[in-house]
Amino acid sequence: MDENKEKEKTPADERRDALLYRPENGYDRLPKEEEGAVQAYGEAYKKFLDAGKTERECAAYTVALAEARGFRPYARGQALSAGDKVYVANRGKAVMLAVVGSRGLEDGVNICAAHIDSPRLDLKPNPLYEDSELAFLKTHYYGGLRKYQWVTIPLELRGVVALKSGETVRVNIGGDPGDPRFTVDDLLPHLGGDQAKKPLAEGITGEQLNLLVGSRPFPGDKGTDRVKLAVLDILNRKYGIVEEDFISAELSAVPAFQATDIGVDRSLIGAYGHDDRVCAYAALAALLELDTPARTAVCVLADKEEIGSMGVTGMQSQAFDTFLADLCESKQVPLRTCLENSFCLSADVTAAYDPNFPEVYEKRNSARVNYGVGLCKYTGSRGKGGASDASAEVVGFARRTLDKNGVIWQMAELGKVDQGGGGTVALYMANRNIDTLDAGVPVLSMHAPFETVGKLDCYMTYKACKAVYQSEE
Ligand code: MN
Ligand code: MN
Repeated sequence: MDENKEKEKTPADERRDALLYRPENGYDRLPKEEEGAVQAYGEAYKKFLDAGKTERECAAYTVALAEARGFRPYARGQALSAGDKVYVANRGKAVMLAVVGSRGLEDGVNICAAHIDSPRLDLKPNPLYEDSELAFLKTHYYGGLRKYQWVTIPLELRGVVALKSGETVRVNIGGDPGDPRFTVDDLLPHLGGDQAKKPLAEGITGEQLNLLVGSRPFPGDKGTDRVKLAVLDILNRKYGIVEEDFISAELSAVPAFQATDIGVDRSLIGAYGHDDRVCAYAALAALLELDTPARTAVCVLADKEEIGSMGVTGMQSQAFDTFLADLCESKQVPLRTCLENSFCLSADVTAAYDPNFPEVYEKRNSARVNYGVGLCKYTGSRGKGGASDASAEVVGFARRTLDKNGVIWQMAELGKVDQGGGGTVALYMANRNIDTLDAGVPVLSMHAPFETVGKLDCYMTYKACKAVYQSEE
């Protein structure tokens, strides 16, 4: 093609360039010098995923990473100066971290809030039983999951058991190489005719999500429940627990998959728990790299988002207000002044447009894999029910801030208007009188045991968080 001819633009072309919004694939916009950083970030993120499959594990790994970067536990009343790096771990299940800025807290703080709990199968308080000489653990699913996806995959058992003695025992079966794993069984197709006629949501029910944990009877015995007894015997030898101890336990069956590259081009990452550890890692990694920002930067990694952000470790908890009030008190600044001048990026995943299911998406307003971090003005369902709906000015601020910092971003809406919906922690931050905008990584197969994201989008979410922390506006 004649190069000169290509460069000749018609008046219409010029107007097109000036007027039309035409998002491009992020790989067409990514500067060459950033390609290495995208890859390196993906490797570090995969480690973060494998180290934390529950909120407790993720919180512990977060604290370890933060301590290694000079963060220290914050004690109420402690004097703070610019550049100080502090954190508070809330009951081992949520973490709040701050890098103190050079400006006063009356100017507000820049917050990135994500969540570190993910859908999974929790054990019931009285879970262990034997049927037909097979031992199972009854589960109660946590979060909005599609039950049929959780059968016939390898699962691990993670969590804690609080003994009557006051001691808490950590349980991890399946996480170490050579460990046994667990599974939930399903019907064979030969006998699945009736099941196959049911609606997908009813094919597997909550009470069928029973974890297979053993089959070998206690030796040399003719009594009942010999398989159950043998399972308890093994658990007792390993962890010192008895059956009643399940009552004060938090044990979860989580997918046994390790995070892995997906695609021959290695452009994607498949793993359990991208929602929302992909944004949690972005918010954390960006904070750990800060020196002394202008405004104080705050990273919140919350628990319980998947079941409504309730409870002492959820985003509705006063734990966040207490943390911020403590920081404010050390500077004699009223909390309400700080809150009204703050900004929060509610960093949570969004649905990526999936060409296999075009009927549920509205293509003009869906986030696409590799188009960068997805900004979401509102979440909710139907008529924006349950959304905090960020103002035009707040979205304008985000556009400006991201563009200024070379962040590749896109707009995102979850799906067709009346198709469904969802929520994040955004409304709980906005309710506190903090300007809040949702933004996050587009995910394929969200809430499945194995979710998929694009590496470029992960990296751009990290860059977006960093831009927010460093914003001086
Ligand atoms: Mn989420
Ligand atoms: Mn979710």
